[in-house]
Amino acid sequence: MAEITRDVLIIGAGAAGLTAANDLRKAGLSVAVLEARDRVGGRLWTDVIEGAMLEIGGQWVSPDQDALKDTIEELGLETYSRYREGDSVYVGPDGKAHRFTGEMFPVAPETEAEIARVTEILDALVAEIDPDRPWAHPSAEDWDTITWDAWLRSQTDDDEAVRNLAFATGSAMLTKPTHSFSLLQSLLMAASAGSYSNLVDADFILDKRVVGGLQQVPLRLAERLGDDVLLNQPVRGLEWSDTGVVATTDQHTVRARHAILAHAPVLYSRIAFDPPLPRRQHQLHQHLSMGFVIKVHAVYDRPFWREQGLSGTAFSPYELSHEAYDNTNHGDERGTLVGFVSDANADGVFELSAEERKERILESLSHYYGPEAKNPVVYYESDWGSEEWTRGAYAASFDMGGLHRYGADLRTAVGPIHFACSDMAGAGYQHVDGAIRMGHLVASNIVDASRD
Ligand code: FAD
Repeated sequence: MAEITRDVLIIGAGAAGLTAANDLRKAGLSVAVLEARDRVGGRLWTDVIEGAMLEIGGQWVSPDQDALKDTIEELGLETYSRYREGDSVYVGPDGKAHRFTGEMFPVAPETEAEIARVTEILDALVAEIDPDRPWAHPSAEDWDTITWDAWLRSQTDDDEAVRNLAFATGSAMLTKPTHSFSLLQSLLMAASAGSYSNLVDADFILDKRVVGGLQQVPLRLAERLGDDVLLNQPVRGLEWSDTGVVATTDQHTVRARHAILAHAPVLYSRIAFDPPLPRRQHQLHQHLSMGFVIKVHAVYDRPFWREQGLSGTAFSPYELSHEAYDNTNHGDERGTLVGFVSDANADGVFELSAEERKERILESLSHYYGPEAKNPVVYYESDWGSEEWTRGAYAASFDMGGLHRYGADLRTAVGPIHFACSDMAGAGYQHVDGAIRMGHLVASNIVDASRD
């Protein structure tokens, strides 16, 4: 058993942990980053599958994500825009593909009016929410005890309007069924992106990608830390007291003054804490759960949909793949589509054989792009539910009523143990931007505490 001593030990080499580690180093503190996997990046992972470069986890950058944009610039990485020339496609309750441009789906005028009316209400509510303290709003309890679905249905009787309004924070973001999380959780999701309208605007929220993949961010951050990043080191135990922490992995004992748990809160229970975490943390961590989405990659010999004047952007609350986009890599002659299958739909397709699942998902993509979509040269499903050190996608959120009850304590340090992850961010919540913000925040808290 090798013994290591540092000022701060960081559990998790994702964007949050590596950001914190770099900040702490710059402030003159020594660090060790312990990572369970054999790679850095966590939910950021670029790989080559059958000759195609795929971004298996997070990839898009939006204009409001200043923390991420600053990091990208500082690391000298290049970005490029998502392809968006031409018409988008919407499949309505009639099962037919309708072309459209702009943000409003091509629905009946009454439905369009209802979507616009409720969106205005939502933008007004979101403007009242501080994404860093949604629980502090005077209506937080009321908004946290009504489901997103029930609230929408209390606003309009138009089912198509409800489905379209619901999926922006439901299938597309929190990736949980809309009956399983609250209006407040939904407002937080929207507030973290600036407004509800921003969240539904694909050109905003899915704006840019990084050349070579977004995993370049953690890879380059880790490069700067050199040997202080230790791979294949799942932390099994954490002893803690007022004076410091001792983490144990299968090969190392690491002593430090502070620890940062820089991973999804659903994984805290994988670590044996001695003494146990306090009652409040025991309770609150049980009210968080991961969403669940399959990111489907389909690569074709060329971006055939562009020949039909299609941008590749496609939505439908009625389709198995509720949204899909042109995801062709920078400078690639081949064309890539990315589709998403979320929450209960994802449960359903995992009941099928791999072959049937592929067939069903490609069938759904063909409803947007035509029969050619059924014949990719490379097909791959990102299955984060099977990843032991993540257990779902994209991130964790509170169950009904949990956000106003426990949210305020999620980031609160327990003695020398600090918490940082995208899943507890305000701005950039559930995104890489939020992970980086949390990394900076926790590092500055530790630097301040070290000066005392
Ligand atoms: P993580 O990336 O989860 O890192 C935590 C690390 O801790 C992991 O490496 C894990 O292995 C490690 N770990 C866990 N437990 C232990 C332990 N006991 N001991 C040691 N190590 C441990 N965000 C965007 O901004 N844009 C997108 O387009 C986008 N799309 C996404 C698509 C998918 C399919 C997924 C899965 C996520 C997506 N996200 C996106 C979300 C984004 O990837 C995450 O919010 C962000 O990467 C989380 O960073 P993190 O550092 O907080 O946590």
